Amino acid sequence: MNFYSLNNKAPNVSFKEAVINGIAPDKGLYFPERITALPASFFERIQDLSDQEIAYTAILQFVDGEIPNVILKEILKEVLDFEFPVIPIEKNVGTLELFHGPTMAFKDVGARFMAQCLGYFSRESKEEITVLVATSGDTGGAVANGFLGVDGVNVVILYPSGKVSDIQERQLTTLGQNIRALEVNGTFDDCQAMVKTAFLDEDLLAQLKLTSANSINVARWLPQLFYFLFAYKQAKKENKEIVFSVPSGNFGNICAGMVAQRLGMPVKHFVAATNVNDTVPKFMATQNYDPKPSTATISNAMDVGDPSNFVRIRHLYQDNFEALKHNLSSFSFTDTETKKAILEIYQNSGYMADPHGAVGYLGLKKYQAVYPDTYGIFLETAHPVKFLDIVEDTISIKLEIPAQIQKVMDKEKESVKIETYQELKGFLLV
Ligand SMILES: *Cc1c(COP(=O)(O)O)cnc(C)c1O
Repeated sequence: MNFYSLNNKAPNVSFKEAVINGIAPDKGLYFPERITALPASFFERIQDLSDQEIAYTAILQFVDGEIPNVILKEILKEVLDFEFPVIPIEKNVGTLELFHGPTMAFKDVGARFMAQCLGYFSRESKEEITVLVATSGDTGGAVANGFLGVDGVNVVILYPSGKVSDIQERQLTTLGQNIRALEVNGTFDDCQAMVKTAFLDEDLLAQLKLTSANSINVARWLPQLFYFLFAYKQAKKENKEIVFSVPSGNFGNICAGMVAQRLGMPVKHFVAATNVNDTVPKFMATQNYDPKPSTATISNAMDVGDPSNFVRIRHLYQDNFEALKHNLSSFSFTDTETKKAILEIYQNSGYMADPHGAVGYLGLKKYQAVYPDTYGIFLETAHPVKFLDIVEDTISIKLEIPAQIQKVMDKEKESVKIETYQELKGFLLV
């Protein structure tokens, strides 16, 4: 399938080129030329299909012909080697747990899928590809893990020194091989600014094949639509209209859910739940899109003031605000409300939510206050142990450290400290 740039000033490209480029030359996000609905029979018998069969059927049209079907199946088998359960929490409320992968946050699936696609596309090329990524925490770990040992691809991760959790830092600094971590004396915004400068540096681009591994990359963004299909498969038996509440930062995950809906999956409504970084909730209330610098919160993977994928959502609805509003509500919550929700969920059901999942829960409850006769699913995007201090303080319980996390806690950190763009460039060109 071909992909076009949402800025409309760059040539259409194949899936392969969209994955390798990351972003179009005119700085627009790539978007598939068509989204063709799957046959109704697929949804009628989805409960008889394995997760891998579901994923294969759903992604095929986007990849078709560019990765041989047998290899695509192998890739999906490797990417989807863990569970995606919907756990009932209360009457008409379930949580879709997306944290059973190696880094215990939902970005594992997208990062692994992108890594496998890039590995396949670069298999015969002599030119190595460098994946450059800035992280405020979870992206770096998932990308490091997904790309570890992929031939022909080098990964360089920038993270703000002292501003990621101990667990997150170890996940991105202890792997070695083709993964290198740069510890930036600055904030996440500084890391992101350096990455942006690199992508505009003609001199650098003449010497290096650079791509990004953020959710602007179609190979990281699109596979997230699997989650919604896996949840639908499990929730169908409730015989109710389904509502998804998605804790959102860059809005890639929820946008992928909307693509699943375009594939024909029955969904009544989407809720985009955010922390106080409320650019989209404000837009949904006022039709005025007014991006701001991000504010730090306890759900830090959603501290985004100008969500990069929201243009894809607007495009899906052809910028028809009424149509978008019919399908999407968006609410914002403070850290105090989030902690209160973590406690409330625990007291009511014994379930331990992380701060991101708790924001999703709050969004769902707000919607269901008006539409109670729906089956609501909020996405639990990270394991609570990744936000150990907050969760332990809030519910006054000690959490057990899962094996995936324990494994990295015993390893030595390796990183290079940098402060300026020139130092980054020097590092990349060695
Ligand atoms: C990245 C992330 C999010 C936000 O997802 P988007 O696709 O950027 O909206 C939410 N929760 C966690 C734990 C994340 O890592």
